[in-house]
Amino acid sequence: MLSDINEYFHAASDLLGLSDRVRSILLTPRRVVKTELIIENDNGQLDSYIGFRVQHNNARGPMKGGLRFHPSVDEDHSTALASLMTWKTAVVDLPYGGAKGGIACDPQKMSDRELHRLTSVFVERMKEIIGPTTDIPAPDVNTNSKIMGWIMEEYSKYEGFSPGVVTGKPLQLFGSNGREEATGRGIMYVLIEALEQKGHSLEEVTVAIQGFGNVGSNAARLLHEAGAKIVAVADAGGGVANMDGLDIPKLIEWVTETRTVKDFAGGEGFESDEVLSWKADVLIPAALDGVLHEGNADKVEAKIIIEGANGPTTPEANKILADKNVLIVPDILANAGGVTVSYFEWAQNIQHFRWDDERITTELEKIMRKAYAEVYRISQSKNVDLRTAAFYVAIQRVMDAANSRYYISET
Ligand code: GLU
Repeated sequence: MLSDINEYFHAASDLLGLSDRVRSILLTPRRVVKTELIIENDNGQLDSYIGFRVQHNNARGPMKGGLRFHPSVDEDHSTALASLMTWKTAVVDLPYGGAKGGIACDPQKMSDRELHRLTSVFVERMKEIIGPTTDIPAPDVNTNSKIMGWIMEEYSKYEGFSPGVVTGKPLQLFGSNGREEATGRGIMYVLIEALEQKGHSLEEVTVAIQGFGNVGSNAARLLHEAGAKIVAVADAGGGVANMDGLDIPKLIEWVTETRTVKDFAGGEGFESDEVLSWKADVLIPAALDGVLHEGNADKVEAKIIIEGANGPTTPEANKILADKNVLIVPDILANAGGVTVSYFEWAQNIQHFRWDDERITTELEKIMRKAYAEVYRISQSKNVDLRTAAFYVAIQRVMDAANSRYYISET
């Protein structure tokens, strides 16, 4: 994954005329921490896990990014995702750098007690390098507001009351209105922009979604409420489709009970992977990275792809899709709604003041639409796709900040 993201970085760096030396400075993470985490499991035995935190770049502010609990977590993967956070916070112009991390584990096979112990040991190990003004974790794949609450509690044991050390916390524990649905809401705004660009609106389109976790389910709900027709949804367990449009509120109820969209009575079942080539106007990959690759990109039927996940499209697939004239709204722009409302949460924590829903929604919409317009403008003026344009905007902002801090005399 790291080499894929670096390839996108280099395409924009070529356009900016950056030297190899500057590229290497921008790509090298500031700090990488790898630590063994030992906990007692529910049977009284000791289990050992490996945790990571990669702090990529802090030229624009404290580093920001999620924590992922997944077997695929390793140093390379966390570094790739940390660099994406640097570019993502820059595209939407938040005063942050980028970081990412997590624990190589399978939370589906662990009890809540074990997860609580593991999270607490992780914070105990990382407490010197995270903090409200240095590095602020947040939810990502398989982590949620409950785990963020545990992080705040454990960190505050060492450092005193510190709600701003982590975002995505429960509402009753210094969380923010609108954070839970933020990534899905951001996806809706960029889709509206992309459709407007083609002279269409949400009410006219059919949508297929891969993944029904926080991002996929909230995107589905908000798009459904706004009048789009969600015709296919799939998760790891299976898929469900209805060409007249799925009843998303009912599907959400079903998934809350069964933890999968499989066997939902309001549609026909299908094999998970087929969702990527579903006959729909819009495809939203909102699960894991690398799902659109050389082997399946030519089968994509959608004309617009909104990258809800981080890194869902490999460079080979990106090229095939470009040749097919598919408009891709890249991850660092499309899913930036989450970190944007994280920023609002952090700002509220620092001010000890709560914003209402309306303010969150208005500010989020403003930021997402402005970022889309800026990226679109660059894509038109430089004649490049939205991904290269988004990296271009981001790299330039990081460079400008670094330049004013350290004085870099060359590009
Ligand atoms: N994990 C999310 C992302 O990849 C959110 C990060 C944050 O809120 O800091 O953007």
